[in-house]
Amino acid sequence: MTVPQQSPSSADTLGPARELDAVVVGAGFAGMYMLHRLRALGLSVTVLEAGDGVGGTWYWNRYPGARCDSESYYYSYSFSDELQQEWEWTERYPGQPEIMRYLNHVADRFDLRRDIRFGRRVTEAAFREETGRWELRTDDGDRYSATFFITAVGCLSAANIPQIAGLDTFGGEWYHTGRWPHEGVDLTGKRVGVVGTGSTGIQAIPVIAEQADHLTVFQRTPNYSIPARNGPMEREFQRDVKANYDAIRRQQRASTNGHPFEISDTPALSVPDEERRAVYEAAWERGGLRFRAAFADLLVDKEANDTASEFIRGKIRDIVLDPETAEKLLPRDHPFATKRPPIDTQYFETYNRDNVTLVDVRQSPIEEVTSTGLRTSSAEYELDVIVFATGFDALTGPLLNIDIRGVGGTALREKWSEGPRTYLGLHAAGFPNMFTITGPGSPSVLTNMPTSIEQHVDWIADCIEYLGSHGFDRIEATVEAEDAWVEHVNEAADRTLLPLAGSSWYLGANVPGKPRVFMPYAGGFATYARRCDEVAGNGYEGFVLTM
Ligand code: NAP
Repeated sequence: MTVPQQSPSSADTLGPARELDAVVVGAGFAGMYMLHRLRALGLSVTVLEAGDGVGGTWYWNRYPGARCDSESYYYSYSFSDELQQEWEWTERYPGQPEIMRYLNHVADRFDLRRDIRFGRRVTEAAFREETGRWELRTDDGDRYSATFFITAVGCLSAANIPQIAGLDTFGGEWYHTGRWPHEGVDLTGKRVGVVGTGSTGIQAIPVIAEQADHLTVFQRTPNYSIPARNGPMEREFQRDVKANYDAIRRQQRASTNGHPFEISDTPALSVPDEERRAVYEAAWERGGLRFRAAFADLLVDKEANDTASEFIRGKIRDIVLDPETAEKLLPRDHPFATKRPPIDTQYFETYNRDNVTLVDVRQSPIEEVTSTGLRTSSAEYELDVIVFATGFDALTGPLLNIDIRGVGGTALREKWSEGPRTYLGLHAAGFPNMFTITGPGSPSVLTNMPTSIEQHVDWIADCIEYLGSHGFDRIEATVEAEDAWVEHVNEAADRTLLPLAGSSWYLGANVPGKPRVFMPYAGGFATYARRCDEVAGNGYEGFVLTM
């Protein structure tokens, strides 16, 4: 590791910049592995992290019920066989505290902390043409200068707090789930309102209902949800997994979504009604995101999808005892899985509790927060605590919250004013030597994240190694390559039903004023990874490499 040194040219009143080969922003799954890979190449690297610990999204999202929707044995790193052999998962789906234990273990095991600066939020990053280096500043005035600037800022890390009139007048407490207090919140005996019924709300609502005196759920869009069927990790299953990790990881990398299971090749309408229903019943009983894989065409054929959507609506009607509440909970405005499908533990059942009320804020919109609660167009609700489970300014938000400037001082905010433009979701033309791990235009949120993260980190590390060993010190995509990729990302989305979910965060539609562009790459993980390998194999086709 290079000891940070003072650069005579960059010393100013704020103090000297630390000179490095690479700065990585973010110490979640992505930043930690990026550090590990770059260090192995002999580079001097610093990771800048806003939180006071590792974990990224899992560091911040400590809300009641926070749990991963991928299964633990594959929501994990594959780069070290020792690590995957020694770590023991305790549940089918890892809860937030268990993921934090795992990531802290990884940080210790690979001695990562010595190169991570915690409690530093990067506010600016600018490419200096004269030196060919990136200069970064943090909110506490620290300065860093590096050849490579790598963002590992996560896709869902910029909290979306709705601008509701009167929030500052509220006499109770309010929280966003993605900024949950580390010491926890005691909701016992309180009147709690939850705004939002996405994956987060659907996880939090059953847990909060058990603690609160009364829970009022403010729902704008009803959601499909599949039972998670969480449970303890069986010893025998864990033994099997460990014995077969090579094959499991191969299957993940050969898949569409980075999960180790096959998507059925049977079209939903090719089988008789009864057989289809039996397939859905079995998938419902098994639980989890795998429900999407029950038939081949659920995400590409609306009629096929209708059968799954109707099956789930039937389950909601069966579970929720009050027909009026059940009716309000039925999702009808988007096909199943065109928004990220939540998985749950007792979500719909929670509406059978006496202390839970469902309010339809599509019908009666929230008008203001008062000093004592929340007022919709038709009623006032007295609350002690408001929980905003209102999601994130996804994919672009975490990047655009930093003032990133490329060649000629061009701001990334300006370049992306009509929506993100990237080459492979890894890089933006005009921003030399900058890489975005799981950036917009890559499969990212449509996949099991650690699989996508490892593929990106490996590609970036290999690229940097290639540059060094071939005497190059600058890489930048051509505008033509970027334009072609953006077009391909749009075509890939249009071949699916995904753009039909009009209010989805995939499209940026959850944030007022955000351009509506389908942001992730929907062409599938394996296809994408092959394309990345081809680009590298062809000497970084679509990029210009210079000395
Ligand atoms: P989300 O999916 O964007 O859901 C936000 C919810 O808040 C939606 O119901 C939305 O309604 C509602 N909302 C937003 N602004 C509102 C307003 N002004 N008034 C009323 N309602 C409002 O966010 P999320 O639930 O945090 O999930 C985001 C993503 O994080 C997930 O899709 C998933 O990828 C990930 N996640 C994963 C897990 C897991 O691994 N199990 C858990 C949590 C989150 P509309 O639908 O009408 O916009």
